[in-house]
Amino acid sequence: MSGSSLPVVYGDIEAAAQRISAHMLKTPFALSPSLSELLDVPIGLKLEHHQTTGSFKLRGACNALLSLSPAERKRGVVAASTGNHGRALAYAAKAEGTVATICMSRLVPENKLAEIRRLGARVHITGASQDDAQREVERLVEQDGLVMVPPFDNPAIVAGQGTLGLEIVDDMPDVGMVLVPLSGGGLASGVALAVKSRRPDIRVIGLTMERGAAMKASLDVGRPVEIAEMPSLADSLGGGIGLVNRVTFAMCNALLDDVVLLSEAEIAAGMRHAYAQEREIVEGAGAVGIAALLAGKIDPAGRPVALILSGRNVDMELHQRVVNCETDLLREDAA
Ligand SMILES: *Cc1c(COP(=O)(O)O)cnc(C)c1O
Repeated sequence: MSGSSLPVVYGDIEAAAQRISAHMLKTPFALSPSLSELLDVPIGLKLEHHQTTGSFKLRGACNALLSLSPAERKRGVVAASTGNHGRALAYAAKAEGTVATICMSRLVPENKLAEIRRLGARVHITGASQDDAQREVERLVEQDGLVMVPPFDNPAIVAGQGTLGLEIVDDMPDVGMVLVPLSGGGLASGVALAVKSRRPDIRVIGLTMERGAAMKASLDVGRPVEIAEMPSLADSLGGGIGLVNRVTFAMCNALLDDVVLLSEAEIAAGMRHAYAQEREIVEGAGAVGIAALLAGKIDPAGRPVALILSGRNVDMELHQRVVNCETDLLREDAA
């Protein structure tokens, strides 16, 4: 592993774990009997959707906030977010006595927006893409002196998300493969660095939707590229990686063994399995690990697999329609 030249090192993740441990849950890890039987290897589920605020994003947000100077904290923080980062940052800011301003595109579902307002953050809705929301963040940094806490492309965020990888190796010491939901790559960068630093032989696979997979497209051409954002059941995986990506592109490029793409129907099947077999409510982004296994797109090669249920912040009406197989919602023809 060429980890030594990367913008985050293993010690950063260990330091993050110490910094944030009092502020978050150590989420449960459960073996899935049905998936283990299907794949004929032990399949473990990291139930991170039970994390406070409903996703792993609290780990990075808390680590970033606790790494600020008192003067920076006083100015307030600002971020662009498709929902879960904004929610996590709003929660963490309130807990630390500062104010968060959250910028988001109008594709973000109403339930996520309402929750962020409820947590006491200011919300700015702007444009139709994550890149538009990011431009609003930069304006607020320049005009009002707010401190930017980006959703993924930041060393403190990556180190915070990486604490999840430490827990996975503790939970399943013989794990041979880790399946990680992938969007901007903060989670995948941190988890891959954590698990490969502990055990260099662990394979780490990024999972994302076919529709608008910006990191996959960027890795394929060897530099960050922009691609069109489209509605998906895995709305938390939407958005670009930033044309001037500084942290996560290089880390995903160095540390991910593969990236697997999933259709909307496969993601829906993952959500249904999570609900019916595992008795867990997960959002589309949180279901991609199960989806990839069910779709036969992962070969564990006889070794135990751990996957991350990364979030549960789904509109419950939508969740019910997915569970009831109302597949007209999935609009495969629009892809
Ligand atoms: C943000 C998010 C992801 C993807 O994380 P990145 O660090 O952007 O790759 C996956 N699942 C959920 C639930 C998320 O909120």
